[in-house]
Amino acid sequence: MLLDKLGNWRKTHYTKDVTPELVDNEIILGGWVRNFRDLGGLKFISLQDKYGERQITVKKGVVSDELFEKTKVGYQYCLMVKGTVKKFNSAPGGIEIIPSEIKILNKTPEKLPIDMTGETISELDLRLNNRALDLRSLRNQAVFEIRGEMLRTIRSFLLERAFSEVSTPKIIGSATEGGTELFPIMFFEREAFLTQSAQLYKEQLSGIYERVFELSDCFRAEKSRTKRHLCEIFTLDVEMAFVTMDDVMTLLEKLVHNVIKDLRENKMGELKILKMENMTELPELPFPRYRYEEIINLINDKLGLDLEFGEDPGKLTSEAYRKLGEELSGYYYITHWPMSIKPFYIMPSEDPKYSESFDLQKGMLELTSGGTRVHNKVQLEDALESKGLNPISFESHIKTFDYGMPPHAGFGLGIDRWLTILCGLDDIREAVMYPRTPDRLTP
Ligand code: ATP
Ligand code: MN
Repeated sequence: MLLDKLGNWRKTHYTKDVTPELVDNEIILGGWVRNFRDLGGLKFISLQDKYGERQITVKKGVVSDELFEKTKVGYQYCLMVKGTVKKFNSAPGGIEIIPSEIKILNKTPEKLPIDMTGETISELDLRLNNRALDLRSLRNQAVFEIRGEMLRTIRSFLLERAFSEVSTPKIIGSATEGGTELFPIMFFEREAFLTQSAQLYKEQLSGIYERVFELSDCFRAEKSRTKRHLCEIFTLDVEMAFVTMDDVMTLLEKLVHNVIKDLRENKMGELKILKMENMTELPELPFPRYRYEEIINLINDKLGLDLEFGEDPGKLTSEAYRKLGEELSGYYYITHWPMSIKPFYIMPSEDPKYSESFDLQKGMLELTSGGTRVHNKVQLEDALESKGLNPISFESHIKTFDYGMPPHAGFGLGIDRWLTILCGLDDIREAVMYPRTPDRLTP
């Protein structure tokens, strides 16, 4: 059969807007066949669009014979349906649509690579290999609707508090922080790198716009094959002038609280699809604060381990990691990390063995690293040298500290990790539309 043409048909509604108030009205919907049942004289089609689904009921004798014959659909066929809205309590939205005309705009092969009815969940790698199809599932729709809402809430929270949204370069000439591995790229005849974070640029911009944030991609060339590491990440970077890390921690916990409150108020439908409606609890403010050494002692006591000062509890084995997550399950801060494992731009504490730094954790998962920064140029140069870095390669950054750099502090938050938690996902790759890991460069 030939495919129908779009012609002058335009959607009058999205599925979510087809509510009982529209009973007896004629509407046009468009979308994909999530599921269908053929009971002989009666056919049901679950038509899905970007916001959900509605039931199309095709009954012999009620619709024209021609339409009844034409309605032979397969999974994920692309359809448009013109029809009348009727009340039907047991269908999604309490509504069914009795079609007067159907357009079949595109078809699919008989066998799709993954189950799209929602009855079974295919294995993750198979789903990722067929991501454009997989993303259409009701579950994934919920995940990415929640992501969109998170980003909207984060933006409005910060914009209401005198922040400016900035964008910093992703192609850089030399290593920003030292430490994390960078992806080298060819920049015409020269070598350049993909940025690992907005750190140095956002610091410079905090000396101009005072309060800045950026939502953007960063690249981490770590060959970590864990359920919490990606090679391309999406982060929220925040930097504030005339404050210390305490002010930043207060802002961050309010931001976290605000996002969760908003999701509970506005995205309960999506949380239900993910079975997270009772799991997404509003955390109490302020979040508990533990010093790094308290956490090390807790790990050693509870898990019978022998971690020493200067080790990163995030680098524990996955078993230890899981057990600690059971001890500390909510949001909390780990503060005053050893200066020896912090980057050069972090301010040392009064006792220089420690640093003015913090991580925000949810259970054992690190969501954020932040701290007070060094704003004195000489101190910064010394810090670079003591980390074994060459001040010459940081010259263009260092010189901006000559122009009246204010005291400042900030943090970087991994959006993909946070979304993984908020949606109760098992693997961070589920929280990214097209994830990049050491083993995955397509789709
Ligand atoms: P980890 O020790 O867990 O690998 P990190 O301390 O190296 O993380 P930061 O440089 O502090 O990471 O980056 C800020 C935030 O970005 C982290 O707290 C985390 O939420 C997120 N993040 C960092 N690296 C990754 C990654 N490879 N995959 C996913 N998220 C990441
Ligand atoms: Mn970190």
